[in-house]
Amino acid sequence: MRRDAFVHTAHPARVLFGRGQVDQLPAELDRMGLSRVVVICTPGQEALADAIATLCGHRAHSTYPHATMHVPSSVTTAAEQHLAKHRIDGAVAVGGGSSIGLGKALALTTELPLLAIPTTYAGSEMTPIWGITSDGEKTTGRDVRVLPHTVLYDPDLTLTLPTSTSVSSGMNALAHAAEALYAPDRSPITDMMAGEAARALTSALPAVAANPADHSARTDLLYGAWLAGACLGATTMSLHHKLCHVIGGTLDLPHAEVHAVVLPHVLAYNLAGPTHAADALSQALDASNPVEYIYSLNTRLGSATSLQELGMAREDIESVVSRTTANPYSNPRPVTAEAIRAIVSDAFDGSSPRAHSTESAAAITVVA
Ligand code: NAD
Repeated sequence: MRRDAFVHTAHPARVLFGRGQVDQLPAELDRMGLSRVVVICTPGQEALADAIATLCGHRAHSTYPHATMHVPSSVTTAAEQHLAKHRIDGAVAVGGGSSIGLGKALALTTELPLLAIPTTYAGSEMTPIWGITSDGEKTTGRDVRVLPHTVLYDPDLTLTLPTSTSVSSGMNALAHAAEALYAPDRSPITDMMAGEAARALTSALPAVAANPADHSARTDLLYGAWLAGACLGATTMSLHHKLCHVIGGTLDLPHAEVHAVVLPHVLAYNLAGPTHAADALSQALDASNPVEYIYSLNTRLGSATSLQELGMAREDIESVVSRTTANPYSNPRPVTAEAIRAIVSDAFDGSSPRAHSTESAAAITVVA
């Protein structure tokens, strides 16, 4: 890629990174001029939200433990009413993409400022992408107003994330980095971030799986997730993200786990033949075959390897194929029904990623 002419979109965010950075929360809220915030989390993370609210001191009004994956509109509406009723002046979202997703939806509809404290590796805090689900359909859009003003990454808060969730969430982050390497709008800056993210994530994941309390590995994993999230926010994702959106959204399967299962199979197709992305990923992972490396990493770390075990039925394969080929989007190789069928069938069975033919591998293709 030429380094003398490119476009890179960097999104504004103040990031505080490192162990103990959560202690800066009161000062950050003061900096944002907030004195009556709500602390958002998912059900089950109330203790974490309570601890965050305590840290906020007099600046916290309440906790709101009702964030739900894919941001149902009913949850957003109820939260809006809570904000209005109690004259809340800002939100602190602590947790994963579900919690931050609700914070972003509220930032969109109420324009109240958001501070994010991510404790998974999904990367939503780094993107202007919002999503709200109504009647089973998820509507997404891009709007810079949903970006958190401040992001606090504190690895100590990720120590309680179960090992299996840590692994699948780390693979979700790896998917952002991998697809950024062949994005139509990639730049030398996103290439740099994606390579560094892939390196940090894949070196830290085995260490975290072996010892979830390994502070140093948790720090590297969160660092990689930050960079991968920045790639997700700065570039256009391709087939892998489209497929996971269709599979996870329409079949209601868990987001990060679907990413972990599908990633090696899409990469087997998109990285077939000599490409810049294949070289960059090989270098980052220090592996001659990044596809096999990622597939065996899933197996080695005990992550799910088949869509079947996540609850998908074989009859769903055809509807995934038709939904994934229905609308145009960019991909480094042509997206044909035949290719999608092969990818989804392999992911469904959990078989080793197949060697795809390298014909017409060169062009960025928009599916008609
Ligand atoms: P999640 O937020 O649902 O979290 C996964 C699980 O981890 C939950 O059960 C949660 O309670 C638990 N958890 C979180 N922090 C924990 C902690 N510190 N200790 C113990 N458990 C903890 O899932 P996710 O994968 O982080 O996010 C998925 C959602 O985010 C999806 O809806 C996806 O579409 C969205 N997303 C959006 C973007 C974007 O740019 N808009 C990017 C990535 C993901």
